[in-house]
Amino acid sequence: MQKLKRILLKLSGESLAGGAGQGISSERLNDYIAEIVAVAQKGVQVAIVIGGGNIFRGLSGTAKGVERVTGDQMGMLATVINSLALRAAFLAHGCKAEVFTSIRMEPVGKLYSSMEVRQKLDEGYITILAGGTGNPYFTTDTAAALRAVEIGADYLLKGTRVDGIYTADPEKDPSAVRFDSISFDEVYRRGLSVMDLTAMTLCRENNLPVMVFDMDTKGNLLKLIAGENIATVVSN
Ligand code: UDP
Repeated sequence: MQKLKRILLKLSGESLAGGAGQGISSERLNDYIAEIVAVAQKGVQVAIVIGGGNIFRGLSGTAKGVERVTGDQMGMLATVINSLALRAAFLAHGCKAEVFTSIRMEPVGKLYSSMEVRQKLDEGYITILAGGTGNPYFTTDTAAALRAVEIGADYLLKGTRVDGIYTADPEKDPSAVRFDSISFDEVYRRGLSVMDLTAMTLCRENNLPVMVFDMDTKGNLLKLIAGENIATVVSN
């Protein structure tokens, strides 16, 4: 694997909840921060997109009687809350960190600009890209793919609860086999659920490789950066 210079790390909001299932677990938050800081100290530029599922999901809001667009806007705001928690934790660790939001809301964060994010990354900041794409009917996976392409990331690292992509759901099917690598076409053909199709297509069309790995096991991010085979790599 090439030496990684710039990565976009996608964290799920749900993982941030830790065992509680919702809200923000300070233990999980600190674990994540420690991992990411260690990687940044190796000289890797890190941009982060975090979901909002631990606070609010558009579709579940819709089910409760909130119409879709409003529900999605609430979901996007939830990603901003998680992003602020990340920034606070990075700053507490003595790291330089900046939040960019896709929807204008200074002084909560700076309005997103890919040029400014690139500049901040070059200056050694960890950048947190909040608010999804700013549009309803999209996901934070799509926001992660879009931002990764825009800022010229070498890889999109998708942190999940499992250590890669399997032939079937390993939590349900014990005979499921893990892929070390797989092409985007094969993922489509087999109908595997890696990311939503909009996100996948963006990565495929822009030749952005994706690594799917288990973010909840301590030390994994560093191992991944060191080139250990603990993820499934999806590429063209
Ligand atoms: N969302 C959206 N547009 C975007 C990104 C997110 O409308 O570009 C909304 C959508 O309602 C989604 C919610 O924000 O359900 C939270 O994001 P997601 O479910 O992707 O978070 P995760 O599952 O990663 O925690």
